[in-house]
Amino acid sequence: MTVDCIFCKIINKQIPATIVAESESIIVFKDIAPQASIHYLIIPKKHIRDIQSLAPADYTIAADIIFMAQQLSQSLPEPQDFRLKISSGATAGQEVFHIHFHFLAGKRL
Ligand code: 5GP
Ligand code: ZN
Repeated sequence: MTVDCIFCKIINKQIPATIVAESESIIVFKDIAPQASIHYLIIPKKHIRDIQSLAPADYTIAADIIFMAQQLSQSLPEPQDFRLKISSGATAGQEVFHIHFHFLAGKRL
């Protein structure tokens, strides 16, 4: 938990979000301002600022995110296609500094 991190507050249920899936290391919730008919955020429960800050010990978290995306895709109607998008760092457009992958799906993106 990092004070003043909005996503840590969602993890700790201090602010509401529509949770879509959860595992030991990962939580998935709906983006508050969706850019596609399905727009989820996949985040690690551990507070990590960005990809640049990942440590070797976070290796399994990175893999868990990809496999969570695969699991989410299995709940989609055919075709089970999706886009996984991340901005890492302010100049790349990151606005919330807790790693999050955008999971986008639905009608042709
Ligand atoms: P970024 O621009 O950092 O890649 O994406 C941040 C995303 O977080 C945006 O798509 C934004 O809509 C979403 N977001 C920001 N605050 C909240 C919030 O309080 N709840 C939820 N569910 N999504 C949020
Ligand atoms: Zn955080």
